[in-house]
Amino acid sequence: MGAGTGAGTGAGGGGGLDAAFFVAWLEEAAGEIARQRDRLTELDAAIGDADHGTNLDRGFSEVLRTLRETPPASPAQALMAAGATLIRRVGGASGPLYGSAFRQMGKTLDGGEAPRPSVTPAELAEAFSAGVVAVERLGKAAAGDKTMIDALAPASRALSHAVRDGLEVREALTRAARAAADGARATVPMTARRGRASYLGERSVGHEDPGAASSALIVTALATAASRTAAG
Ligand SMILES: [Mg+2]
Repeated sequence: MGAGTGAGTGAGGGGGLDAAFFVAWLEEAAGEIARQRDRLTELDAAIGDADHGTNLDRGFSEVLRTLRETPPASPAQALMAAGATLIRRVGGASGPLYGSAFRQMGKTLDGGEAPRPSVTPAELAEAFSAGVVAVERLGKAAAGDKTMIDALAPASRALSHAVRDGLEVREALTRAARAAADGARATVPMTARRGRASYLGERSVGHEDPGAASSALIVTALATAASRTAAG
C-alpha cells in the first residue's frame, strides 16, 4: 500500500529496508541520545552510577564516525559495525548489551557470501526479536526485572504483530515505539532485580529504569528513520 512510491532508498517503495535506512536509524538514535543525555544520566544517578547518558552518547558518536569512515553496503554490515563499536567503546553493562543486540540483528539479516542490499519488514521484525533474545541472555533479565527488556520486549511483540497484520512499515514501527515508551514508563513502580539498581532493592521503586528509557529512544528512532527515509 503506502501513500506513494516514496524515494528509491530507505523505507519507501516496496517495503525494502536498505543500508541507508539502517544508517538513518543509527543517526536518529545518536541524535536523540545526545539530546537526552542529561535526562538519561539523571535517571541513572537516581538508581545507578550516573553514567548512562554520557556512556551512550560517546558510544553512538563513535558509531556515527565508524559508519562515515566505512559506509556499510548492507543492513547487516551497518548493524554489525554499530554493535562492534558499542561493545568496544561503551563501558558498563549497556555497551555490551546494546552491542550484542545490534550484532545479533546484523547476524540474523546477514546474507552469507553476498551481502543482501535490503530486507523486508518481516525480516526486520525477526531480527529485532533475535536482538532482544540476545539482551535477555547476556543480561540474564526477564520482563518485570526493571531493565531494557521491559521496553524492548513489548516493542518487539508490537512490531511482529503489526507486520504480521500487514501494516505498512512506518505504522508498524510507530506501534513498536509506542510500546517501548509505555514499557519504559511501566518500569517506574517496579523493583529492580538486575544490574546495579538491584542493590537498592525497594528503594529503586519510583524511578524509571535508565536502560528502558534509552531503549525507548532507540526504538523511537527506528520509527523516525522510517518516516525520514520514506519521505526522501
Ligand atoms: Mg550506569
